[in-house]
Amino acid sequence: MTVIKDTGQRALPPPFTEEHEELRQSLRRFVRAEIAPHVEEWEEAREFPRELFTRCGELGFLGLKYPEALGGQGGDYLHDAVWAEELAFSGASGGVAAGLGAHTGIATPPIFKFGTPEQHQRFLVPAIRGEKICALGITEPGAGSDVAGIRTFARTVDGGYVVNGSKTFITNGVRADILITAVKTTEQGGHHGISFLVLEREMPGYEVVSKLEKMGWHSSDTGELSFADVEVPAENLLGEENGGFHLIMANFQWERLLMALGAVGAMQRLLEVAIDYAKEREAFGRPIGRFQAIRHKIAEISIKAEVAKALTYNALRLFHDGIDVVKEVTQAKLYSQRACVEVADEVIQIHGGYGYMREYGVERAYRDARLGPIGGGTDEIMREILGKQLGL
Ligand SMILES: Cc1cc2nc3c(=O)[nH]c(=O)nc-3n(C[C@H](O)[C@H](O)[C@H](O)COP(=O)(O)OP(=O)(O)OC[C@H]3O[C@@H](n4cnc5c(N)ncnc54)[C@H](O)[C@@H]3O)c2cc1C
Repeated sequence: MTVIKDTGQRALPPPFTEEHEELRQSLRRFVRAEIAPHVEEWEEAREFPRELFTRCGELGFLGLKYPEALGGQGGDYLHDAVWAEELAFSGASGGVAAGLGAHTGIATPPIFKFGTPEQHQRFLVPAIRGEKICALGITEPGAGSDVAGIRTFARTVDGGYVVNGSKTFITNGVRADILITAVKTTEQGGHHGISFLVLEREMPGYEVVSKLEKMGWHSSDTGELSFADVEVPAENLLGEENGGFHLIMANFQWERLLMALGAVGAMQRLLEVAIDYAKEREAFGRPIGRFQAIRHKIAEISIKAEVAKALTYNALRLFHDGIDVVKEVTQAKLYSQRACVEVADEVIQIHGGYGYMREYGVERAYRDARLGPIGGGTDEIMREILGKQLGL
């Protein structure tokens, strides 16, 4: 009979392997040494330095899932999942995670997936090096949840397109060199006739109208853009003309998974912060963690964090196996984003007056988390998708 010796070591949660764990440790060291100490300064400055892109490029973090031939690390989506979770857990602010994450998680994947070899060389290779900053431009002042309602129009001309319109709420929008832009290419309504064009910052008529002031994510830039007769060459069409809705839908699953992973990392961090504080802060002659009211709050937080993690890792595992995961991703995104706001709120409460002060960073965690139920598809839209998935 084989006796299995219990070494006391916990197995890695699927789908992660030892290799992912090594990446996790090196990301943790990097974030703690090179990002976390500067977060407050960057929040004040309303952006993190552009050099952070090149630094992350140098270290290979911007190309974890891309082939080595393009300058990537030859990994897969799971490596990027570790990146998203670890940025949140190790103390990058929501703004830093959003800026870097928009580049790696939502703007460069469509270039890789739908781009030609020539587009890979022109746009993806410098993006992986961190030399060109990328953003994804779908939302417009008049169309957010209703993606099919976008109005930015690309008129076909000899050799390409002429683009007129505007975009808003675009993460990295102010300093992006490359904007993966959703445009209409037919007058047909609905989901028909959406295409993607790569707009480049130096194109005449491309203008950054404003840098938007926000409730949280202060260290990320969020831009409003306008396009007036921007001439875009045909070689900047990404994927098929009028095939853009497919691109949007393909991108959404990964974006929502990344948001769920970010919330999982953030909640784990908040749980640890709450436990430490409950042990150290005293009231009425004892640590506040010895009051049942506080202990029970922390117990509830641990459950929310664990449920979000279980839903998210399950969706990630299925996504990685190439299975249709709309239902699981939607559940993970919906649950984790709202849970993260609730957890951050409770952790402020556990900190009392100090929770309301900037010193402990929990008020920032709350402000940053509040975007979760809005961005990447609102809670209401998630429930609609889920309802349809359940046959209603
Ligand atoms: C900080 C930040 C960063 C962002 N970054 C990007 C980015 O990089 N790129 C990008 O393209 N976009 C980005 N967005 C946009 C984001 O994806 C949209 O804000 C989001 O999709 C919601 O769209 P909306 O703001 O137009 O709200 P609306 O669609 O106007 O919704 C308003 C309200 O109505 C509800 N509602 C709408 N339709 C329905 C319905 N059918 N059933 C029930 N309720 C409904 C919504 O749930 C919401 O509560 C960002 C937004 C923010 C705030």
